[in-house]
Amino acid sequence: TQPISIGIVGYGNLGRGVEAAIRQNPDLRLEAIFTRRDPDKLEAGTQMVSINDIERYRGKIDVLILCGGSATDLPEQGPALAKLFHTVDSFDTHARIPEYYAEVDASSRAAGTVGVISTGWDPGLFSLNRLLAEAVLPEGSEFTFWGKGVSQGHSDAIRRVPGVKNGIQYTIPREEAVERVRSGENPELSTRDKHLRECYVVAEEGADREAIAETIRTMPNYFADYETVVHFVSEETLAAEHGAMPHGGHVLRSGRTGAGNTQIVEFSLKLDSNPEFTASVLVAYARAAYRLAQKGESGAHTVFDIPFGLLSPKSPEQLRKELL
Ligand code: NDP
Repeated sequence: TQPISIGIVGYGNLGRGVEAAIRQNPDLRLEAIFTRRDPDKLEAGTQMVSINDIERYRGKIDVLILCGGSATDLPEQGPALAKLFHTVDSFDTHARIPEYYAEVDASSRAAGTVGVISTGWDPGLFSLNRLLAEAVLPEGSEFTFWGKGVSQGHSDAIRRVPGVKNGIQYTIPREEAVERVRSGENPELSTRDKHLRECYVVAEEGADREAIAETIRTMPNYFADYETVVHFVSEETLAAEHGAMPHGGHVLRSGRTGAGNTQIVEFSLKLDSNPEFTASVLVAYARAAYRLAQKGESGAHTVFDIPFGLLSPKSPEQLRKELL
């Protein structure tokens, strides 16, 4: 059988991750990478093409993996490209997912394409685990802890503080809170109890460090509700020690069944590279999108709507024998 032909839209961290992940999946083949920038000025192992020429690839590409940002790229590109191709994306603005779903659904239904939205790890694999544990343990509580990982939004907020030259923010789960959930205590946890925020800041020459730290610690919405630790480092240290993009976290449900027995369900991720892992999830869902389309389905789909078996390159018979 022919490999499934993939196009990547947007060549940032996620786009590069998808390019690498496709190499690990022999049933997929990368056809082209589309960008809004000048394709001749970008280095990649694959053909770089201007996004303006994407229509020419209809019929040559089975699934497009959209790797743009959730803030402004996907709300525009998702519904537009779903009119032309089957798509997969990682839209992660949780509060706006219903609205985004409706827009991609309208486009993909009209065009007869499949649009898989909001996959990755959160939303994505974490969402699946929240659903699974809640369906199995209706009486119980859900706890999601994120980190240790870099939060782009919080890092941007630090960099906007006067006197700050550069900086990065890690969200860190409080281990004592995670342990309390694991022990079956089913605790009431405030925002401050669950996560800690650690900032590494490069200050401008002569800037008042205490004033910077205070501005960060008291910043509403971002830091004020948390215990926030601010470290000042040199530009060299920031580059040498904080250039990677680790992330991960835990999804737990603490429930009770029958005679009051405590049941704990936990799913964890520990990721050296957030974008490379997210990309690997997108690639598995591209395979599923292709198979849904082969079955004649169309419209927007989330991870909740897609049978697990479709993610695997293995046949249902093979899966029953090896993994059931
Ligand atoms: P980037 O900022 O690296 O890339 C976003 C887009 O910006 C690219 O597609 C690219 O588009 C453009 N771009 C990239 N680098 C440059 C540059 N140097 N100059 C100008 N433009 C550039 O974002 P990420 O790849 O790190 O993340 C993309 C999205 O993935 C995030 O917004 C987030 O929403 C989502 N995500 C989802 C997760 C999940 O679990 N669901 C987890 C992690 C991320 P172009 O080539 O067209 O210029």
